[in-house]
Amino acid sequence: MKYLVLFLVLAVVYGVWRSGRRAPPAPPAQRPLPPPQDMVACARCGLHLPRAEAIAQGPRSYCCAEHQREDGH
Ligand SMILES: [Zn+2]
Repeated sequence: MKYLVLFLVLAVVYGVWRSGRRAPPAPPAQRPLPPPQDMVACARCGLHLPRAEAIAQGPRSYCCAEHQREDGH
């Protein structure tokens, strides 16, 4: 029974110590290199632009809707 009380006291002290301890400042996160942009060329004028900004039409990509329309026929 004596050891049970001692254990409880240690548990409480440990809990207080853990909650009172300041977390060490996190080291600055290593900024991961941005993934290389997947570039595509406009099928109409040849302008290179990121695929995310291009207008895809099947296997072809265009820099703007106008070139997509002009190359459509
Ligand atoms: Zn274009």
